[in-house]
Amino acid sequence: MFATLSDRLTATFKNLRGKGRLSEADIDATAREIRIALLEADVALPVVKDFVAAVKERARGEEVSGALNPAQQVVKIVNDELVNILGGETRRLRYAKSGPTVIMLAGLQGAGKTTLAAKLALWLKEQGKTPMLVACDLQRPNAVNQLQVNGERAGVPVYAPEPGNGVGDPVAVAKASIEDAKRKLHDVVIVDTAGRLGVDAEMMAQAAAIRDAVQPDEVLFVVDAMIGQDALTTAQAFLEGVGYDGVVLTKLDGDARGGAALSIRQVTGRPVMFASSGEKLTDFDLFHPDRMASRILDMGDVLTLIEQAEKAFDQEQALKAAQKLTGQGGEFTLDDFLEQMQQVRKLGSMSKILGMLPGMGQIREQLENFDDREIDRVAAIIHSMTPAERANPKMIDGSRRARIAKGCGRTVSDVNNLVDRFFEARKMMMQMARGGGMPGMPGLPG
Ligand code: GDP
Repeated sequence: MFATLSDRLTATFKNLRGKGRLSEADIDATAREIRIALLEADVALPVVKDFVAAVKERARGEEVSGALNPAQQVVKIVNDELVNILGGETRRLRYAKSGPTVIMLAGLQGAGKTTLAAKLALWLKEQGKTPMLVACDLQRPNAVNQLQVNGERAGVPVYAPEPGNGVGDPVAVAKASIEDAKRKLHDVVIVDTAGRLGVDAEMMAQAAAIRDAVQPDEVLFVVDAMIGQDALTTAQAFLEGVGYDGVVLTKLDGDARGGAALSIRQVTGRPVMFASSGEKLTDFDLFHPDRMASRILDMGDVLTLIEQAEKAFDQEQALKAAQKLTGQGGEFTLDDFLEQMQQVRKLGSMSKILGMLPGMGQIREQLENFDDREIDRVAAIIHSMTPAERANPKMIDGSRRARIAKGCGRTVSDVNNLVDRFFEARKMMMQMARGGGMPGMPGLPG
């Protein structure tokens, strides 16, 4: 998502580079380019108009004319305005002061509600909460079962009507679930409701009835970011029919143009609170307007990368590796090398990780073609070595290389390559570790 928008905006800024002063014509041309970029990304027209007007007004002002580098100042303005339309501050969940916090989900069928319910539950669990999921989608055959499967994957209990106990009344189920949560001391209850393929009065009435019965602390509207401008019409309908406090965007990993994500805040007046970006339960996070703007402008999202690394990395292992690299605690071996690579792999696909670094938009195609199986190939070669060879790679001579290659079904030149890369990487990491810390690598103090 946002790839085309990102490319277009960065190309626009390139035209300004090196200019000591911006003429009125420069500003007009830039504003025009930004307008086209946003319209092409499917951003709603009123949002585009406001955006461009705000950028233009600021670009004509003191902050740009007085700046040493006007082009950079324009990027900063666009960044500020992007953060602004995305909602400004990160909006966090409000928890109930007493009793369980009730979060109700509403949205169309296929929006990703059921998946999201489990993602949110897992995320809350990681924050130390004890959530419970409630299946109130009693319309769609299999919806209850799907929530149960997802709940199990997240390790979160699901409250559902007994099978065979009638199709049941979702309002009664929702009400009973809150009582159950109180008894079992769950501190958050996530109520999944029924969706339809399109906006439908009966669905709205049912969701409103559930809302009245459970008095949620937060009603979240879940919407598929891939459906473009339709997302805005649906959002409007749910706002009138049920009302909600925040929006959850799903399928941000898709290749849609992203306009809905950029427009929804301004069109509905409700903040985007969470974003879902894949089918895995962990492909989910709080929505940070500043980080999203930074990604769109190809300035990277290093904060998210660090947070994910902190979650995925084994701190103890990282510390041990760091000690070895600083010469306290034995030598950094091929086993350590492999271990490090596998830790990085836990973060997800390389293209996703590298994509969070600034400037990566320019090599997007290479990123997308990065083959994650490369790490498996390296692992196979290392596993084909004896423990002595892994501990002391210097002993790996020609005949050993031939044996290792045969053992893992690779060529001798693959083995040579790996050994060379290992020595190079070790040298580089030792330099970095001894030179006072590795930027962006938590758990690896200098
Ligand atoms: P519901 O009808 O609103 O409950 O939607 P579901 O949770 O059943 O999701 C519909 C489909 O979208 C399923 O196939 C999900 O795996 C998929 N899905 C949900 N969230 C995401 C996401 O963030 N990215 C991608 N690629 N697929 C998703």
